Amino acid sequence: MAESSPTQQATLTPEPLGLEPSFGFGDRLGSATPGHLAALREAGGAIRGIFAQQSIREMTRTSRTADEVMSCAVDALAAESFADKWGADADHLKTEDDVRNTMASGFVFFTLDPSGDVDQEADNYNASQLAEKFAAAREWAPWFDSYLGQTVQLDSTTIEFNQDILSRAAVKYGKSIQATIKLAKFVESEAERLGKPFELELSVDETAQPTTAAEHYLIADQLRQAGVKLVSLAPRFVGDFEKGVDFKGDLTELEKSLQVHAEIAERMGPYKLSLHSGSDKLAMYPLLARTTKGRFHVKTAGTSYLEALRVAAHKDPAFFREIVDFSRARYDDDKATYHVSAEVDQLPVSADLNDTQVEVVYLERWCDVPAGKGFTNPGRQVLHCTFGSVVTDPNLGPRLKALLESHADVYTEVLRDHFVRHLQALR
Ligand SMILES: [Zn+2]
Repeated sequence: MAESSPTQQATLTPEPLGLEPSFGFGDRLGSATPGHLAALREAGGAIRGIFAQQSIREMTRTSRTADEVMSCAVDALAAESFADKWGADADHLKTEDDVRNTMASGFVFFTLDPSGDVDQEADNYNASQLAEKFAAAREWAPWFDSYLGQTVQLDSTTIEFNQDILSRAAVKYGKSIQATIKLAKFVESEAERLGKPFELELSVDETAQPTTAAEHYLIADQLRQAGVKLVSLAPRFVGDFEKGVDFKGDLTELEKSLQVHAEIAERMGPYKLSLHSGSDKLAMYPLLARTTKGRFHVKTAGTSYLEALRVAAHKDPAFFREIVDFSRARYDDDKATYHVSAEVDQLPVSADLNDTQVEVVYLERWCDVPAGKGFTNPGRQVLHCTFGSVVTDPNLGPRLKALLESHADVYTEVLRDHFVRHLQALR
């Protein structure tokens, strides 16, 4: 793969996209960009593509470098003579090294992830536990007194900063707000030193409990006071955002909460509202587009890997069965860091299914379940969580890549079809 060089045409260099609606096409295998681009050209409308998008965790799991991720996207866009603006998202950055490394490879959109400093249990503490935790967290929340007793009137809700809400916010996010400001300042100073463009997203989506209106407001206000300008923020929304399946939860409640977050994003930025784990969450896309009035960012990643496995299911069913069996064996270990509910024991083994059934059970996207429960397909989660094990397996990994190379047109068509549905739901 050719390395990207500074002498490339301007169109082959990713740029900050500002407040334009954007869609992140994560590509863990390095061959999905042609399909992503075909979908964007067909159904993207005003939506801009982020064609290089990879989190540090994904790069670790697939043994890929930031340079490789970037050059795969650049080469594919060059081959298609792509001339529009596009973005490159260095996702879920936690350290200064993460920033240095991805900025050197040309990434321009930096997603800061302070979740390691978030107290995931904060919403469960009783009064005495909270008082104890708050005493320890007080030093991270110098802002506490300035909000106490304040009320913020929004069109969609009223935020009241009382003792309980503020001390819980201090415990939950106090330390992570400081960490975010520090990392954001580092991005700014590195970009200035190297003369590189940048934009910043803050992600607090990978927490157990939803981000409340008061917490969102407070985080945004603190960043603003520190001079940190965000282009987008990813709250942890209400409901379940399991990997590989549609949104699980109450869509009416979700819409109300999106309304509140969108209003805060408008007032405190404006910045975009960002949806992570956005793969296959089609039921909520229209709500996101409507409540944000088109000021949104969506990230997808795992779904392009799953669609690559669909190529295997169609072109080499025996190989697909091998991947299913291998993934079943790996799932319990590999699922540890993911939000999923599938249990391997509840899914039939591939030997009991014919070729069509294996694909339906392990890859089907739209599985109807009783009304009110949304869509869910546990089989997809087993394949979703085990991508790193498959891709780095010395037997399966190279075979999967070779298969995609020899059926590149099929992979492109499968992805085009899949993402046209995603993009149409956002318009
Ligand atoms: Zn995320």
